[in-house]
Amino acid sequence: MIALFNLTSLEVQCMEQIRAEPYRIKMVEPIKQTTREERLRAIREAGYNTFLLKSEDVYIDLLTDSGTSAMSDRQWAAMMLGDEAYSGSRNFYHLVETVREIYGFRYVIPTHQGRGAEHILATLLIKPRDYVPWNMYFTTTRAHQERAGGQFVDVIIDEAHDPAAEHPFKGNVDLDKLENLIKKVGPDKIPYLSLAVTVNMAGGQPVSLENLRKTRELCSRYGIPIYFDATRCAENAYLIQQREEGQRHRPVREILREMMSYGDGCTMSGKKDCLVNIGGFLATNDRELYERATEIVTLFEGFPTYGGLAGRDMEAMAVGIREMVDDAYLAHRVGQVAYLGQQLIDAGVPIVRPIGGHAVFLDARAFLPHLSQDQLPAQALAAALYVESGVRAMERGIVSAGRDPKTGDHRYPKLELVRLTIPRRVYTDRHMDVVAQAVVNLHREAEDIPGLEFVYEPATLRFFTARFRPLRDSRILGPR
Ligand SMILES: *Cc1c(COP(=O)(O)O)cnc(C)c1O
Repeated sequence: MIALFNLTSLEVQCMEQIRAEPYRIKMVEPIKQTTREERLRAIREAGYNTFLLKSEDVYIDLLTDSGTSAMSDRQWAAMMLGDEAYSGSRNFYHLVETVREIYGFRYVIPTHQGRGAEHILATLLIKPRDYVPWNMYFTTTRAHQERAGGQFVDVIIDEAHDPAAEHPFKGNVDLDKLENLIKKVGPDKIPYLSLAVTVNMAGGQPVSLENLRKTRELCSRYGIPIYFDATRCAENAYLIQQREEGQRHRPVREILREMMSYGDGCTMSGKKDCLVNIGGFLATNDRELYERATEIVTLFEGFPTYGGLAGRDMEAMAVGIREMVDDAYLAHRVGQVAYLGQQLIDAGVPIVRPIGGHAVFLDARAFLPHLSQDQLPAQALAAALYVESGVRAMERGIVSAGRDPKTGDHRYPKLELVRLTIPRRVYTDRHMDVVAQAVVNLHREAEDIPGLEFVYEPATLRFFTARFRPLRDSRILGPR
C-alpha cells in the first residue's frame, strides 16, 4: 500500500496494463550464448557482414522478420492437410477464398515468396523507360522493376527521410510529388504506383487511410493502377487503428479490407505478416492481368495452383492470414517492438521515431557521428553489436542502397540505419530486455567503433554477400 501511495496515476495505469505474450509455449528450440572471442572470430570469417554469419553462432537473431515467425498449433495441424496434387489442390482454393475474404482481391497466384510475385508483376506491366513511383522502395522489388526497364521514383513525404521527425504516418505518399511526376512524364509512362504498407525502409512506418483514399483519387484521375506491397499490411492496419482519428474501435480486419479496397491488387511476402516460413502470392482484381500472369508463373514458379509451394505451405499460409488480423496478437506484436524501442529512447539511444511496426531502427549516423557515410557506419554498428552481445541485426543504409546503374556511384540514402527486426511470436519480452541492454552498453563506447571498407562487392543486392574489413585496429572489431 505504501509503495502504491507514491505512484502517479499514469504509473498506476501502466501497472494495470501489464500484458504478457498472448500465447503459451509448447515447443522450444534451445539457443546458446557464445564468448566474445568466438564471436570476433565468427564476424571476421563472415567478412563483417551479419548476413554471412552462421545462425548457430547467433544468440538472439534480429536479422529479419522474414520467414522467421513461429507458426501456431493450428498452422502445424494445417500442414498435415496438404493436398499435394499437381493441379487444383484444395489448399489452393482455401488460400484463394481466404485472400478474397481478408484482402478482398479476386484473383490469386501463389508464389514461392514475395519476390516471385514482384517478378511477375514487373515483367507484365513495366516497359523499358517507364517510371515506377513508390513510397520509398524495397530492395528486391526495385531490382525487379529495374530489371524490367523501369525507373524508381520516390514519392514518399519528406518526413520519412528524417529519422527524428515524429509524424504518425511517415509512410504516406506525397501527393504533390506524385502529381508532378505524372504531369512531367505523362500517365502512359507510369504502369502502376507501388504502395508499400508499412514502409520497411523508412522504419516500418505506416500509411494512413486518409492518404490511401487521396492517393487512389489522384491515380484514378489519371488511370494509373495501384499495386500494394502488402508484406506488412496487417501491422499497418493495426497502426491505423492506434493512430488515426476515428479508427480506435474498428477491428483490424475491417481496416485492412478498407486499405486494400484502394488498390487494384498486391504482391505479398507470406514470410512476414502471413506467419509462415515460406510463401507469397500475387493478387489482383484485373482479370486480363491474371490470365497473363498464369502463363508466366508456370515458367518461373510452377503451375498456377501451386506457384512453387507445396499444398501444405498454402494451407499454413491460409490459416496464418486469419491469425494475422487478430487484434490481440497484433497488440502484442507491435507492442513488443515498442517495448524494445522505448527502452532505447529512455536511455538516449538515437532511433527512428516514431517506433514502427516490425523493427526498431538505430540511427547509425547519430550513433557513430565520428564516421562519414563512406565509412559504412550502419554496417560497422551491426558488426559491433554482434561481437559485443551475440545479437544479430541488419544494415539498412548505404550498403543496402547499392550503386546507381547509370553513374556507377554509391547511392547515398539519407537514412543510415541498423534494423533490429523482431520475429513474430518467437522471442519473449525478456529477450527484448537483453537486446536493449546490449545496445545501451554499446552506445556508451560508440566512439571506439571503427568504420569499414569493402573487400568484395557483388554487382546486385550487394548487402547480402559483400565482405568488409575494419579501417583500423580496435578493441570492439579486433585487428584490421
Ligand atoms: C521481404 C519483403 C519483400 C520480398 O519478399 P520475399 O518473400 O522476401 O521475397 C518485399 N517487400 C517488402 C517490404 C519486404 O519486406
